Amino acid sequence: MERLRRRADLREERGPSGELAALHDPLLARRIDVGPLARALLAALDGERSTEEAIAAVAAAESAPSEAVAASLRALLLVLVFEGAGEETLARVRRAAAAPPELVFLEGARFECQGSGACCRGYQFGPVTARDRERLLGFDLVGAGLGEGPYLVERAGEHFLRTHEDGRCVFLRGDARCGLHAAFGAAAKPAFCQLYPLRALPTIEGWKVHDGGECATSAVSGRSGPLLEAERERLRALLPEKCALEHPVIHLGALPCDMGYVLAMQRAAVAALAAPLPAAAALRALSRVLHGAVSALETAPLVPGAPERALAAASPLEAPATDALVRVLDHLQAAFSLRGPFGEMLSLALHLAVSRIDSEIVLTHDHAAVARVAASGPDFDEPLRYTMRTAAFGDALLLEKRLLAGVARLATASFLIATGARLRAHREGSPAVRAPDVSFAQHTVLRALRRTSVDAIFVEHEASAWSLAEAAAQGM
Ligand code: SF4
Repeated sequence: MERLRRRADLREERGPSGELAALHDPLLARRIDVGPLARALLAALDGERSTEEAIAAVAAAESAPSEAVAASLRALLLVLVFEGAGEETLARVRRAAAAPPELVFLEGARFECQGSGACCRGYQFGPVTARDRERLLGFDLVGAGLGEGPYLVERAGEHFLRTHEDGRCVFLRGDARCGLHAAFGAAAKPAFCQLYPLRALPTIEGWKVHDGGECATSAVSGRSGPLLEAERERLRALLPEKCALEHPVIHLGALPCDMGYVLAMQRAAVAALAAPLPAAAALRALSRVLHGAVSALETAPLVPGAPERALAAASPLEAPATDALVRVLDHLQAAFSLRGPFGEMLSLALHLAVSRIDSEIVLTHDHAAVARVAASGPDFDEPLRYTMRTAAFGDALLLEKRLLAGVARLATASFLIATGARLRAHREGSPAVRAPDVSFAQHTVLRALRRTSVDAIFVEHEASAWSLAEAAAQGM
């Protein structure tokens, strides 16, 4: 077996007794904590011993199971501590440091504002950059009939657009149009308004520009208008010239790994969703591809280059549908007030989830009527699949730098959107889900799940992510 050798450019940090406490990676701007097993492994991998000999020597010296020593070695390999590990990723990091990143887009992604004005209420509008502030205050805002001001408020040294008591932006007009846009043109608005609902993630593959999915008319706006690709120049001008790369260590359950491996998984997930699958099949495909990829990294041989080869050869992996989704919905139900449309949707979703998993459950008349609302066809499947594709391409697949927690959240969100859309269609007397029903449910669910208080629920249940996704797909 190939000899593992620590990368020469890593700097050592010593603890109080002179022991190796951490490694600093100057290229990836990252500090790697070194525990007792990793410390012993790094000492044992002296270029003379094979990997197997080093694992056996450390297991004997530390009285540790060889599986635990191998797991520690796998973690070191996947955070690119050894020569030859993640070569392509490191080359891309060097290139990204030398040149400003290009914009990259999800194939076929579009957006066209439908003028609902919903994105200009109930948010925090800022921070407004110094450049935007200067431009804004240079206009004759009073003369344009935009009120007397103040237009900005300061909080903790940053500026935000002022809001009215009901949460509306100070510039939002009664006809749901932006007053700044109407008076001075689209380019007068702060950059974050011009970008919304798109987000840009600076990765080694470029600025990944994608739809955050929170538009109130997403089922229409995400399928209308020009390709995002065609707006490359306008969007590039809204982003900073230089920006620190988003390239952290990501946790796959207990296993840490470099972001480069996660980007490869994301490409595989996006490819799995290229076919026009029904929404439930798309969720299954997404989850199974990621499950197979994680399993490939967990079992790849412990030599540089092997994780990349294992990922390239990974096959989709199924999991049994269990009651994991019901347990997550139980926690969400407790975390949210049951008043209002979201609480009602959760309560109903819980019943529908249980009934899909346990055929003994008898639904009440109302639950059964909602469950009978047809949810299929382009107005249902396309927006949901698009939400999954943008999540797979962008940042919504990760939650607190954890992939499985992100999958658990996406699967739960997809199930709740499907249920919420059925509920709204039923309330409006429609026998089938329509695009506005999906938009309403998506807007409600994604905004509600964005609260940090619910993140802990998905992290706690991340070990059930694959089963949860199967159950969610079954219930959609
Ligand atoms: S400035 Fe205009 S686009 Fe931005 S939040 Fe206010 S009303 Fe909306």
